Amino acid sequence: MKQQYKSYQQTVDIINENVQKYPELISVQSIGKTHENRDIVMATISLDVQNASSKPALLYTGTIHAREWIGNELGVAFIEYLLENQKTNPKVAKTLKYNTIYIVPCLNPDGYEYSRSHFSFWRKNRRDNGDGTFGVDLNRNFSIGYTKSKDTNSNVYSGPNPFSEPETTAIKNFVDNHENITLALDYHSQGNVFFPAHKFNHEAEINGTDLNTMCANMNYEIQKVTGRKYGIHRGKPPTKLISGSGREYYYSKGIIAAVVEVGTRNIPDFMKNMSESIDENIPALLKTFGEAQNYSKQAPLRPKNFHAKKLSSSTVSLSWNYDNNENTYFRIFRNTSNKESCNDANLICETYNTNFTDIQLNSSTTYYYYIRAVNDKSKIKSPFAPKLKAKTTLQSHEFSKMIFPNPKDVGYVSEKLEQTNFKHFGLNSLFIGINETKGISYGVMQFNLDKIPKDAIITDVQISLYPLNRVNAKIENYGEWSISFVDSSSVAELYDYNQINNAKILETLGQTIPSAKLTQGKWSHWDFNETEKEILSSQVKNGKVIFKIKGPTKLPAGRDSQMMMFDLGYGKFGGGLHYRPNIDIKYTVPGQECIIEASSVTSIYKNKQDATNLTCGFDENNDKVYGLMSFDLSTLPDPSKTIITDCYLEIKNKNSTKTKLDIRYNIEFVDVEDTSYESIQNRDRIEFIGYEVSRADLQKNKKHKFIFDHFSCLALEDTHKSKKEAKFLIKATASNIKKHYVSWHNKDNKNTLKLVVKYINRNKRYSNQVDNLKISTENNKVKLSWDNPKDSEFTGVYVVRNRFHIPSNPLDGDKIYAGNDTYTIDDFGNVNISKYYAVFTYDNVPNYSDASIIMHKSN
Ligand SMILES: [Zn+2]
Repeated sequence: MKQQYKSYQQTVDIINENVQKYPELISVQSIGKTHENRDIVMATISLDVQNASSKPALLYTGTIHAREWIGNELGVAFIEYLLENQKTNPKVAKTLKYNTIYIVPCLNPDGYEYSRSHFSFWRKNRRDNGDGTFGVDLNRNFSIGYTKSKDTNSNVYSGPNPFSEPETTAIKNFVDNHENITLALDYHSQGNVFFPAHKFNHEAEINGTDLNTMCANMNYEIQKVTGRKYGIHRGKPPTKLISGSGREYYYSKGIIAAVVEVGTRNIPDFMKNMSESIDENIPALLKTFGEAQNYSKQAPLRPKNFHAKKLSSSTVSLSWNYDNNENTYFRIFRNTSNKESCNDANLICETYNTNFTDIQLNSSTTYYYYIRAVNDKSKIKSPFAPKLKAKTTLQSHEFSKMIFPNPKDVGYVSEKLEQTNFKHFGLNSLFIGINETKGISYGVMQFNLDKIPKDAIITDVQISLYPLNRVNAKIENYGEWSISFVDSSSVAELYDYNQINNAKILETLGQTIPSAKLTQGKWSHWDFNETEKEILSSQVKNGKVIFKIKGPTKLPAGRDSQMMMFDLGYGKFGGGLHYRPNIDIKYTVPGQECIIEASSVTSIYKNKQDATNLTCGFDENNDKVYGLMSFDLSTLPDPSKTIITDCYLEIKNKNSTKTKLDIRYNIEFVDVEDTSYESIQNRDRIEFIGYEVSRADLQKNKKHKFIFDHFSCLALEDTHKSKKEAKFLIKATASNIKKHYVSWHNKDNKNTLKLVVKYINRNKRYSNQVDNLKISTENNKVKLSWDNPKDSEFTGVYVVRNRFHIPSNPLDGDKIYAGNDTYTIDDFGNVNISKYYAVFTYDNVPNYSDASIIMHKSN
């Protein structure tokens, strides 16, 4: 027996002693009696505790499952922490001033004592079922989704009917009578994971972002203490949801509720792991406690229709609606991965406006935006609007491909399951690590690279895997998971353990993920460095690449498993398309070069013109002489597909002068109608090209390159598109100088004047939308159908649904389909919920069209 853990009676005694010591902060009550006549004890903590019920509240419940001792231990620790720090810690003081916490450290006292004194793995309460068996799983005995079961001996026996048990009835009555409860946390072990509450369907919920953000903000605090990050598991179809749990009951009452699974064992080593768990959870609990008032009736309303109005390769323009925003401002947060925290570290804007443009972003990168309103007087915040996901567009020279493995090319091989390893491909999960039954297991993924051009210049690569479950990774802080390039010629058979075990490794990706950071329910991403990109480039030439995923290959004495499950996205228990491993490759292609000679040159003097020579300088009256050059761009390909990546104007001076005067020569990109001296003087300058050269430079070098910047390249593309000639003006600058002429070129010279344009062939945009978009309901599912565009650039359609607003970009909602069929069925959607569907089309870059929108109305 583990003496360090507090017994039920010690817990009650500690609470009672504290009531004596801090009567203004804590009170105690029994909310009911158990089968064995123990009191179910609740502590109420708030400043001026007599008025606790007038403040917004967090409900804490622990140890509803008897063997999950952390709940009781953490509950007591948090009570002591709040009381001892109320006078000295301003955050604790402020939180207790405006909020209340109700703590039931142990919701299952009978079971807990049975687990402590007799059978440590006991889970249920101690009801006498009358057939020789004992106990009901209290966390299956609530009413929401309650499922009746007959097997009274089962560990998850749900009881004769909902709320048949005194423990569940007690907490139900308390919650029903306390409308001030806005948040609820139910502490369990184990798994280091949050399970936010669900409604029993697979549609986004208005509180979904609040639930995930509450957990993510707790994670942020946990990580500061131990570096650990818990998983956040929510909304993953089609996993069966648990029935009759407390969390869902609280959520049904409008309470933001989550289960917190702490640690990697039900009853961990108290000194080491339990104290870590407590230390990391106390600041996390305090953070959530302080949020109680932001979900109360005093809180402002959440903003509506939070969407991306415009996307570019470096900006996202956000917009939202708010009915009455007097005294209300908005806080906007940005993250680069899902289910991350929203706090000052990623706060990007506070504004009274209802729009904001985020700038200096990376191209083709997914960003997650969050918004909440704040009352500028009370400082109370609103709940979050549903999060917005948006991907910046590609830069004009970039392409990207997200590649998924074929089902037969992704799976795992186990040391002890040689005969059946072929069955582990394209089905359910990847098991990676080591355990007693499977031995060492490696993940294997082969990606087909046919769609990447052989000469691609790879600029960015990310591999993503979805860690599904770490219940079998039973050891805290042990082992790491890594991905390696395998020499594909050393593997003839992906399903052969020995071949994978002995495969020649070309390189292990620099980034590995240690056990503590391998967070379930949250994507793991591996970003490639330069060396890794080079290796991938070499694999493009083979048309495929193979990766081996490796976890720990040894176990410490007495331990039986350190095995991580990743989703594979195929099969009955795979999460489908959304959770499939993938590689996202961003690349460009080598440019082509086009050399264009001048179609005409003109020297323009105040009172004469010379169409045979290109001269600039000053005449005898100190009036400027301009040299105008024109280039015909028609040798470049179709403007809608010409991306100019580099450009320069090369020019040679034929003479130079020996004066000591500081004379400089520059070139302007101009738009002029005619060559009259007046027009030239009143010209529209588009841009200077490169830097000026000095008189001294003309003596040193004859050849000069004027290099276009990005803006000038774009201006040249525009000129090409408008079928005009590109015109440049060379001129000298100096003060008070007469009769100075530099000659650059005449009509008969070859190769002294040229425009060198480097370009790639790539579609600039894609605008053909689908036709004939229709919506219907078949077999209780929404079906969409459409006609694809007929042009040769069309590559596919991308369908997304959103129940809150019209999807503003392909990532703004739940992805339903991507491909080139002409219909799709929304398998997981609920037909009883109204929603918008958007159908985008894309080309092979991909560029996305505007959306075709259709609405589904529920009956
Ligand atoms: Zn539990």
